[in-house]
Amino acid sequence: MVECSVCGGRFSAQFAYQVAVVGQEKRLFCQLECRKKGLGVEAFRSRRARRLAVLNQKGGTGKTTTAVNLAAGIAERGHEVLLVDTDAQGNVGTSLGVVGEKTLYHVLVEGAQVEDVVVPVRSHLDVICSDRMLATAEVWLARLDSGRDRVLAERLGPATRKYQYVVIDCGPSLSLLNQNALRLADEVLIPVSCDYLALVGVKQVMRTLKDIDKHLGHSVRLTGVVPTFYDGRTKLSQEAVETLRGHFKERLFDPIRRNTKLAEAPSHRQTIFEYAPDSHGAEDYHKLIDRFVDQLAKYTAPPVARVAAELAGRGA
Ligand code: ADP
Ligand code: MG
Repeated sequence: MVECSVCGGRFSAQFAYQVAVVGQEKRLFCQLECRKKGLGVEAFRSRRARRLAVLNQKGGTGKTTTAVNLAAGIAERGHEVLLVDTDAQGNVGTSLGVVGEKTLYHVLVEGAQVEDVVVPVRSHLDVICSDRMLATAEVWLARLDSGRDRVLAERLGPATRKYQYVVIDCGPSLSLLNQNALRLADEVLIPVSCDYLALVGVKQVMRTLKDIDKHLGHSVRLTGVVPTFYDGRTKLSQEAVETLRGHFKERLFDPIRRNTKLAEAPSHRQTIFEYAPDSHGAEDYHKLIDRFVDQLAKYTAPPVARVAAELAGRGA
C-alpha cells in the first residue's frame, strides 16, 4: 500500500495514471480526481489526445455520420482533431471529398509514416482515409504470430500526440481491425438506431467489449450511447430511447433525429455544419459535441467492462 500525494489515502497502485514523476519527485494518486488536482487538469489533458472509437457491429446505425460530424464539429471549435477511417468501405474520405494517396493500409501493412498518410481536410481537421485495400490488411493482421490487435496502436499511437482528439470510425463488425481500433481508443461511443434490432446490437456490442476488455487487459471506457434515426412521432423511437435510458442512464446522449440533410450532406462532400447549419441534424450534433467536449467524459466515463457486467446483472 502507498499513500496518495493529494488526499493522503492509502491504496495499492495498479494503473499507470496513478503514478507521475514531476522533476525528481514521484507522485502517487489514488484516483483520477486526485491526479487532476495534483497535476492540474490542463497538464493532465495535454498529456495525450482523447481517443474515441465510434463503434457498433451493426451496419447503418450512423457511425460514419457521427464520426465525421463529431470530428468536424470539434475541429470547428478550434481543437486539433485526427479522424481515422478503419472501415474498408472508405466512407469518411468520400463524405469529406478527399482521396488519400496513401491510406490506413499503408500505415498498418507497409509501415508508412503517419505524416505521409494524413490528409488535412479542414482547418484543425486531419483525416487518415481507407479504401478496399484495408480488407487485405485484415488478412495480413490475422497471419501475424503475435500482437495482431496492437498494430494500429503501435503505428498510430505516437503520431496522435499532436492532436487533442482522435476519432475512429469503425466498420460494422468485430473484426481484427476493430479490435485494433479499440486497442488504440480510450473510449467508445455507440450510435444505436432507434429500432428494436438495434437494441439487440447494443447488447452484442457490450458483450463483445467485455470480452475484449478481459482478453486485452485494456480498459475501454463507455463515453456514451447515442440514439440515432430518432423520430419523436413514432412509438418505436420513443420506446427505444426509454429502453436505452433504462440500461445506460446518464451515459445516454440526447438522440440525433432522423434528418434528410444528414443523409444529403455527404454527397455534397460537406459536413452537416457546412451543408445545413440550421438543420435539426446540425443542432443535434452540436449538442452531442457540447456534451462530449465539456464533460471531460474520458475521466468520468465508466469502464465498458463495468457497464457490461451491470447490464448482465440486470439480465439485459
Ligand atoms: P454506418 O456508418 O453505421 O454504417 P452511416 O453513418 O453511414 O451508418 O449512416 C447510414 C446512412 O444513413 C447514410 O446514408 C447516412 O447518410 C444516413 N444517415 C445517418 N444518420 C442519419 C440521420 N440522423 N437521419 C437521416 N439519415 C441519416
Ligand atoms: Mg460507416
